[in-house]
Amino acid sequence: MQQYRIETHMHTSETSACAAIPGEEIVRLYKQRGYDTVIITDHFHPRFVRSHAGLSWQEKVERYLAGFRAAAAEGSRIGVHVILGMELRFTEGPNDYLVYGFHEDFLFNNPDLHELGLKRFRGLTLPHGIRIYQAHPFRKGMQLADPALIDGIEVFNGNVQHDSGNSAAKAYAEQQGLAMISGSDAHWEEDLGNGGLVSPRPVTTREELVELLISGDYQLLGDWSS
Ligand SMILES: [Zn+2]
Ligand SMILES: [Zn+2]
Repeated sequence: MQQYRIETHMHTSETSACAAIPGEEIVRLYKQRGYDTVIITDHFHPRFVRSHAGLSWQEKVERYLAGFRAAAAEGSRIGVHVILGMELRFTEGPNDYLVYGFHEDFLFNNPDLHELGLKRFRGLTLPHGIRIYQAHPFRKGMQLADPALIDGIEVFNGNVQHDSGNSAAKAYAEQQGLAMISGSDAHWEEDLGNGGLVSPRPVTTREELVELLISGDYQLLGDWSS
C-alpha cells in the first residue's frame, strides 16, 4: 500500500526567530527524508507581533508569510506539497496551538487575532472548519486546554531541545478520547523528520489535510521510548 508522509509542525528561520533553517532549504531536507507534504507552522506569537510594532497588520502578516512563501516556491519546484498552518499563542496565556485549514486571507482579515484567546478564536474558526490542536501540552509551563475548544492534541513532539512529556500526552489523549497528531517541531536539523503523520492518501491542499484529520485515518510517527 502506498503511504504518504506529512510533517505537521515545523518552522522557518525567515519567520521564527528561534529556527535555524530557511524555508527553501528545509523543504529540500524534508524531500530527502521522504516526506510528501509539509505544513509550515511558524510561530504566530505575541512576541512576533510586538517585534513588528509600527507596521500595519497587513505588513505584519506579509512578514509572517515570508518563510511559508519561500518554502512553497521551492516545494512547487521539487515536488513537495507545502501547506500553510501556524503555531499560535494568545496574549491570554502560555499555551501554543497548531492551527490547520485556513488560507492566508484569514490572517489578513482578522487583525490582532492573537489577542482573541482560545474561546473566541474557536468561535471564529469553527464555522470555517479550521482545526486546532494543542501543541506539546505536557511541556513545562503549559496548561491543559479545555477539550471542548480544541480538536485534539499533539501527542508526539520531536523537538530534541525540550522534554515535551510525550508519553504523558499520549496517555492523556487516550484517556480523554482526544484525537492525536504527531509532529517534529523542527527548528534545527536534529529535529527534522522525528515526527509526523503517515497517510494512505496524498495530501496536497488544506482541504485534503482537514479531511485527513477528520477521518483519523493516519498513523503517527514518533519514538515514545525516550
Ligand atoms: Zn520556536
Ligand atoms: Zn513549534
